[in-house]
Amino acid sequence: MSDEDDHKRTIVYAESALAYIKRNVLPAYPRSYEFWYTYCAGYNHGLNRAINDVLKQKGRVSTEEMQSIYGRFLSPNKLGDQLDEVGDKVSREVEDLVDALKMGADATSDYGTLLERAGEKLKKLKDPENLEVFVTHLMKSTHSAVASNRKLESQLLESKRQIENLQSSLETIRYESLTDELTTLNNRKHFDTSIGRLIANAAESKRGFALLLTDIDHFKKFNDTWGHQTGDQVLRLVALAVKQNVKNGDVPCRYGGEEFAILLPQTGLQEAVEVAELIRNSVMSKELVKRSTGENLGRITISIGISIFRPDDTTHSIIGRADEALYAAKAAGRNAVKTESDLPSNQASDVA
Ligand code: GH3
Ligand code: MG
Ligand code: MG
Repeated sequence: MSDEDDHKRTIVYAESALAYIKRNVLPAYPRSYEFWYTYCAGYNHGLNRAINDVLKQKGRVSTEEMQSIYGRFLSPNKLGDQLDEVGDKVSREVEDLVDALKMGADATSDYGTLLERAGEKLKKLKDPENLEVFVTHLMKSTHSAVASNRKLESQLLESKRQIENLQSSLETIRYESLTDELTTLNNRKHFDTSIGRLIANAAESKRGFALLLTDIDHFKKFNDTWGHQTGDQVLRLVALAVKQNVKNGDVPCRYGGEEFAILLPQTGLQEAVEVAELIRNSVMSKELVKRSTGENLGRITISIGISIFRPDDTTHSIIGRADEALYAAKAAGRNAVKTESDLPSNQASDVA
């Protein structure tokens, strides 16, 4: 059943992708196919936005435009390329700056030599007329030294501006590299770094943390019924419910497709359950309506598993317990919160 559903859905994307390749008269290389398939599946929002902009302006996407958009949104080296570009700009800016400073230093030293020679000359000068010529010459040289200092100053200001631009590019790249594009939550990479840091800190400071793993219930069916793009809107909605119910310092992340992981520093079991219940209730309380058609899509629910840091924990072990608790929540009928204390391995034995 599920293979058949996937088959049907993906064939639709595949056929639309080929139709786009034909309509835009593009070579049907595997890359073009990947490009248009991704567009039709609709899960790479940046890519879709860029393609829609070109289609709106020009009516078709050329090979060059396709390559450029591919490079920005699909190339595995996307981030590396952007960093290389910023790195090159920084080198060029620093080279220009060094040149400007060298020229400034040369000009100042020339002016110094000129003053020294002028001093020598002044000692030998007797005639007031010659003195006037001498002073005029000195003033001219001073004006030109001032002008070249002004030029240096404006070059330095321009370099400062360029370096500030580059700094902001680096900040954007950093933000993009740690953010999930669809939901704007932290991405998996951010999660991996954060949980590693929390474990290291907890071992040192004896400050624990809680981990919540959430998974949408029967989401496959939702996608199959309403389409992947509507499914993506639901992912945004769940992400919003997560965001609205955590506090500053907590780390909400998109862990995988329809799974979210939330790290709650310095939080014990009871408090973690309260946060999880807030998120679960907030998701189930929303009645979903398809904006384009006004159709009522019903409600969706999520299940949540919770684990609490133990001193001998590794990333693997603490995620494992949250995952088991999540599985227990699914087994208990879904739309539920379960913690590691609910797992059979943690329950007190009845046998005396
Ligand atoms: P369960 O209650 O057991 O979790 O059932 P489920 O159908 O949700 O099962 P599972 O968690 O294994 O399903 C994952 C589904 O989530 C598969 C896919 O259809 C959907 N999905 C995963 N990532 C995305 C995504 O980025 N966008 C959309 N729209 N759907 C996604
Ligand atoms: Mg899942
Ligand atoms: Mg699911």
